[in-house]
Amino acid sequence: MSVQKEVYIKIKSELDQENVVLVAVSKTKPNEDIEELYQLGQRAFGENYVQELVDKHAALPKDIQWHFIGHLQSNKVKYIAPFVHLIHGVDSLKLLTEINKQAQKNGRVIACLLQIHIAKEETKFGMDLTELEEAVDASIHLPFISIKGLMGMASFSDDKDQVRNEFRMLHQYFINMQSNLGDPLSILSMGMSGDYQMAIEEGSTMVRIGSLLFGARNYANN
Ligand SMILES: *Cc1c(COP(=O)(O)O)cnc(C)c1O
Repeated sequence: MSVQKEVYIKIKSELDQENVVLVAVSKTKPNEDIEELYQLGQRAFGENYVQELVDKHAALPKDIQWHFIGHLQSNKVKYIAPFVHLIHGVDSLKLLTEINKQAQKNGRVIACLLQIHIAKEETKFGMDLTELEEAVDASIHLPFISIKGLMGMASFSDDKDQVRNEFRMLHQYFINMQSNLGDPLSILSMGMSGDYQMAIEEGSTMVRIGSLLFGARNYANN
């Protein structure tokens, strides 16, 4: 399947009305597909794999804002630190500290979202509330990172109430953190192709949509 331009235009106008930012998730997709959405005005793209992101950044227009949305290992931060726009999945203080170090080396401040574990599944990454508090406290001493908000992934489940409750819980964490920090956080990254409308109903400000825009992913080709 190829790029779904009409779907893109429809979703984009929906999201614009709600003031929600669209990150087009292009992992495993070729540069030509990204260029098609770029022609339509899309600038924010999301990638999960460091090497793939580095290659795409080198090949594609420089005004693309690259979002790293995958699980990031500390020893790979250095490859994306020169250019990454926003790192969504920061799930440990160790990782946050390494991002700060690499940001300093590159003379920039890197925007980050802390990933919170909201799903029932054990396998999804993310911090619990205690780790979140520790990270927020520690970030005061990390001048080269800027925590912009939270990110989460709901359970992979047909149980709509379950998914809605998880989004609601994440939104509540976001609100609590906003009031604790005084300096309002602006980004709540939640919602993907299958659940983005519900995520927006529950307070999302940024959605990460892949397969609806680019078609299903075929990992065997990659
Ligand atoms: C792949 C991925 C997405 C996009 O998923 P779709 O279901 O294709 O929209 C969103 N967020 C994360 C963290 C992902 O890994």
